[in-house]
Amino acid sequence: MASPVEELFTVKAKIAAAECEAGRQAGAVTLVAVSKTFDAADIGPVIEAGQRIFGENRVQEAQAKWPALKQAFPGIELHLIGPLQSNKAKEAVALFDVIETVDREKIAAELAKEIARQGRSPGLYVQVNTGSEPQKAGIEPREAVAFVARCRTVHGLVIEGLMCIPPADENPGPHFALLEKLAREAGLEKLSMGMSGDYETAIAFGATSVRVGSAIFGSR
Ligand SMILES: *Cc1c(COP(=O)(O)O)cnc(C)c1O
Repeated sequence: MASPVEELFTVKAKIAAAECEAGRQAGAVTLVAVSKTFDAADIGPVIEAGQRIFGENRVQEAQAKWPALKQAFPGIELHLIGPLQSNKAKEAVALFDVIETVDREKIAAELAKEIARQGRSPGLYVQVNTGSEPQKAGIEPREAVAFVARCRTVHGLVIEGLMCIPPADENPGPHFALLEKLAREAGLEKLSMGMSGDYETAIAFGATSVRVGSAIFGSR
């Protein structure tokens, strides 16, 4: 496998080609480079190559490596893409610039409390469990639009978009289409969908950001 920096440029070229193919505007899709399990020595060169937006799935792991990297490299935007426990809301609001995994009332309430307390407002996405998988985080599709509305009206949260992780063993297209439909119904513009194996498909279905890990950093 080529180096993470070479793979970064390959992924960026494929994103550009997929945008073009789908009739999307150049630059319409944001690349979130998923750096979970990789350390600062692996991530540094990718930042130096120009990548600024990264995803992590664990609050504690991100706390261990990102404060120093954020200090060393201005302009980093860090996304939380893993499940959020309500007792970690404080740390998550302090460290992350976007939290993509708002999926239940208790988390919405805790985030609202911490945003008010810290005066810091990360961008927020609601995660939808499009495959209704019992082991997977995310709100049920049939509850998603009402939940987005309650985030606004009950908790005063600004929700920017929806996020999903389709079931690993299914064709992702219908899941991406469902997320796009729910976002339209909820009046949301942003769609975080697509990973290393299916980001080009996600772009065809309207993804505005893709979360790509192993295709850049290698297998975990
Ligand atoms: C790990 C992870 C990714 C990246 O997965 P790859 O297949 O390595 O690209 C994307 N989204 C979430 C939520 C993840 O946990």
